[in-house]
Amino acid sequence: EVQHVSDLEKLQVLGSGNGGTVYRVCHKKSSKVYALKVIRGGATDQVRQEIEILRCCTDSPNIVQCLGVFEESFDDISILMEYMEAGSLDVLAKTTLGSFSETIIANIAYQSLTGLDYLHSKKIVHRDIKPSNLLVTREMQVKIADFGVSKIIKSSENACNGSVGTCAYMSPEKFDSDGKDYNVFAGDVWSLGLTLMELYIGHYPYMQPGKEAENKSVIWEICFEEPPCMPKDASEHFKDFIQCCLQKDWTKRWTARQLLTHPFIISAREKVGLGSIVLGTKRENSVQSIEEIGEVVAVRKKSRV
Ligand code: ATP
Ligand code: MG
Repeated sequence: EVQHVSDLEKLQVLGSGNGGTVYRVCHKKSSKVYALKVIRGGATDQVRQEIEILRCCTDSPNIVQCLGVFEESFDDISILMEYMEAGSLDVLAKTTLGSFSETIIANIAYQSLTGLDYLHSKKIVHRDIKPSNLLVTREMQVKIADFGVSKIIKSSENACNGSVGTCAYMSPEKFDSDGKDYNVFAGDVWSLGLTLMELYIGHYPYMQPGKEAENKSVIWEICFEEPPCMPKDASEHFKDFIQCCLQKDWTKRWTARQLLTHPFIISAREKVGLGSIVLGTKRENSVQSIEEIGEVVAVRKKSRV
């Protein structure tokens, strides 16, 4: 129903990065709220790719939905998206929730993996999975966003060249310059594993305090040290799940599809309560909103002390 960018009123900047600026906007006629990503400098090949990917991912509940693309002036492209009220997981972790309980992580993991498996089955590699690119609705639906460096892998090409994305979340094989072949999709799984671990422990897993003196870079740690260790208080299923994601050898790393069958995910889905959010159906006594999840986490934290 939105015909033109001028039908929209900009309300607020939601974020800005390499790709452009994202605004919360209001459709003047209907008062409906959307998100609008404005990319300056016009349509590079990568921007075309981002748009192509958004246009072919319209039937997954775990991919941010694109509702239109506007190329009005010569150097701006605007992408209209559904508005994700609760924002991105990096901000949520810092503000509302602090750190997340295992049950919530299992929920986030299930939804992110469903989105990732959907992308990978379409031969789309995201290449920039991290907390700020996972967005959340008011109902705690988690969706993958930001296809700014993503790629549709055509069977004929060598997809392994060109390490793009955010260094801190890149898998070890991407830093290996020997030109060895690897599976590009496995890189997304590594990034998701690191992301989920970060959400649980409350900070980025590499570069622990006290190690600065050793003068090692994050990339050095990713390549030459053991993957980060989960805290002892995590369940065995959860620790094992993270281990399956953070295999340095990509041939041993699980795929998104395999991880969906991991006991950590399966047992969370079987639980009543939060499990119902995972399955997307409302049940009595289940946590329905971000506010309620915030309360649950607060209670959990108190009971730990
Ligand atoms: P970066 O370079 O930081 O990754 P980017 O320019 O590629 O950013 P996006 O990641 O798409 O752009 O969006 C930047 C930020 O804007 C997100 O981290 C998120 O906080 C916010 N944002 C993006 N899309 C939406 C949306 N549909 N609903 C709500 N917030 C959004
Ligand atoms: Mg981003």
